Amino acid sequence: MNTPPPTTLPWEAAAELLRNARRVLLIAHVSPDGDALGSTLALTFALRNMGKHAVPTCQDQPHPRFGFLPGVHEVRQALPPGEHFDLIIALDSSDIARLGTIYQPEQHAALPLLVIDHHITNTAFGTVNVIDPSASSTAEIVFALLKHMGTPITPEIANALLTGVITDTQAFRTSNTTPQTLANAVELMRLGGNLQEITRQALVLRPFDSLRLLGAGLASAQLEERVAYAVIPQKLRAELGVREERGDGGLVGMLISAYEVDIAAVFVELPNGEVEVGLRAQPGFDVAQVAFEMGGGGHPAAAGCTLPGPLREAVNRLLPRLKQAARGR
Ligand code: AMP
Ligand code: MN
Ligand code: MN
Repeated sequence: MNTPPPTTLPWEAAAELLRNARRVLLIAHVSPDGDALGSTLALTFALRNMGKHAVPTCQDQPHPRFGFLPGVHEVRQALPPGEHFDLIIALDSSDIARLGTIYQPEQHAALPLLVIDHHITNTAFGTVNVIDPSASSTAEIVFALLKHMGTPITPEIANALLTGVITDTQAFRTSNTTPQTLANAVELMRLGGNLQEITRQALVLRPFDSLRLLGAGLASAQLEERVAYAVIPQKLRAELGVREERGDGGLVGMLISAYEVDIAAVFVELPNGEVEVGLRAQPGFDVAQVAFEMGGGGHPAAAGCTLPGPLREAVNRLLPRLKQAARGR
């Protein structure tokens, strides 16, 4: 894993890249969450207000729950053909693989790459890296960068940034919530962020399907030592008539809520046979290290990785390592 965060971040180097750029490609990580989308859209709006051409992208289509976010339908799932860029910005992405198919090394490797992220496992893969694992969200870092530059924070920028803060802290409930996070949220609300709408749309409302998936997942969950885990095969989705091809319906967050559990894992079989693993840990335990060893990444309390299938082999490979992490606090 990377060395601890630099005490001083390269704010000015990042600001200079933004000021000098004219055509900017912004990339949110695959399977985008509220922080990836919120920080990408906020920076897109700010760059456009500075008179620059900015294109927000993400390999995967945003989930309909983010439909309330202005600009989300502008996020493109492919590179605009024939367009040239002079700066690339990677947001909320701990390594280059998280950029998915949008990042094309043969076209992009020669361009400056600005990495803005808060994952402790970040591999610092940019030309300039603004990485702060103490930030609740990438949105908080983008907020600080825009303030450093003196860029006006419009209501739409504030709303996008507040979405990142609220979703990555599960509405200020997770251990990454600091006094600075709350202060930022107050400021973003005053600037036009809609806390109630974001909380309801991005965190509370869900398709009925996902409740059935959650129920089936909970019913089959196992507890071994202090590790809880569950598997979601594609077959189960088909049986329950679940339309979404990925995701755990919030199951891993439910498993970690039990007193008897220090580490929780959910193994989701993807349509291509790979296995997406979501990991959670109680304070004092670290799943980021385990995820990083398996080619993924994340935060000590919430991390993930993608393993080759089949499902049973992925479980057999990871479970002993999770038990070890649960013993070694
Ligand atoms: P999730 O369980 O999908 O909510 O992810 C929890 C955390 O782990 C988030 O911060 C993700 O960005 C990170 N994460 C999930 N999957 C991966 C992966 N395959 N590679 C790197 N980081 C991941
Ligand atoms: Mn994210
Ligand atoms: Mn994030």
